[in-house]
Amino acid sequence: MPYLNADLHSHSTFSDGTLSPAQLAERARRGGVDLWALTDHDELAGQAAACAAAHALGMDYLTGVEISASYAGHTIHIVGLGFDVQHEVLQQGLHALRHSRGPRAQEMARQLEAAGIAGAYEGALRYVGNPALISRTHFARFLVERGICTSMGEVFQRFLTEGKPGFVPQRWASVAEAVGWITAGGGVAVLAHPARYGLDATLEHALCSHFVACGGQAVEVVCGGHTTAEAARYAQLAQDLGLHGSRGSDFHSPAESRVDLGSLPSLPSALPPVWALLASRIQRAPQPGRDPA
Ligand code: AMP
Ligand code: MN
Ligand code: MN
Ligand code: MN
Repeated sequence: MPYLNADLHSHSTFSDGTLSPAQLAERARRGGVDLWALTDHDELAGQAAACAAAHALGMDYLTGVEISASYAGHTIHIVGLGFDVQHEVLQQGLHALRHSRGPRAQEMARQLEAAGIAGAYEGALRYVGNPALISRTHFARFLVERGICTSMGEVFQRFLTEGKPGFVPQRWASVAEAVGWITAGGGVAVLAHPARYGLDATLEHALCSHFVACGGQAVEVVCGGHTTAEAARYAQLAQDLGLHGSRGSDFHSPAESRVDLGSLPSLPSALPPVWALLASRIQRAPQPGRDPA
């Protein structure tokens, strides 16, 4: 089935989004999405609710996750699509990643306290929807609430990033592990928003080659974090490497996200879409008159 408006990157309250899976599904449907994936950071707990809500609204669904990975000292994100949610290797890997976030958050708060900002851990926790998943986004919301910064963008310029107060270097999964967990579970690994890593051309090329060698099959080309020029650049890179293209808003919150669910430009027609690799993995919405599978 050709999809005209696939949105394969979004976040719920199970990670650092502000809407529930059901609220996101409704918003996606209103935005005209016909194939959706919820891709919470390092967490699968929202998958069943997301799929059920998508189907109730007539949207096809792909399972999704956005895995935190480390490459050459940089944090990169790998989106997994269409995997088996019950797969034990994937579940165990994600569990370990979530577990490492608690001590990291405590250390972030200690650094912020040393910079004169007290109570950041408790303050961030008030924004956390899933106690197993505390992220920099929750700290950023607290810093905006306190009036220390006026926007999320300002937070990440002044805090929580390399060299700034509240930045704690973290060893996430390796690229081989993240891709391996996704493919072991029958899914496809997508290199998320590559323009956002600030890699020079040599390191970016090395990352892409390594990602492909590990079994990665797609690149996020059209996404909330890419300009039109960046989308064109990564469409060309995907074609050069024989990779499929993905498309996703990376929607987190009505108040914070620049790009809404379903409102991205199309993938370039010359680029094979990632869902072409996932025909057997798509969970199709029941259709009136069609026998349930
Ligand atoms: P973490 O997984 O705890 O390192 O948090 C990463 C999250 O922080 C990302 O998924 C984004 O949601 C958010 N983030 C990172 N950089 C920015 C930025 N410049 N502006 C807004 N949000 C950001
Ligand atoms: Mn996020
Ligand atoms: Mn990301
Ligand atoms: Mn994301």
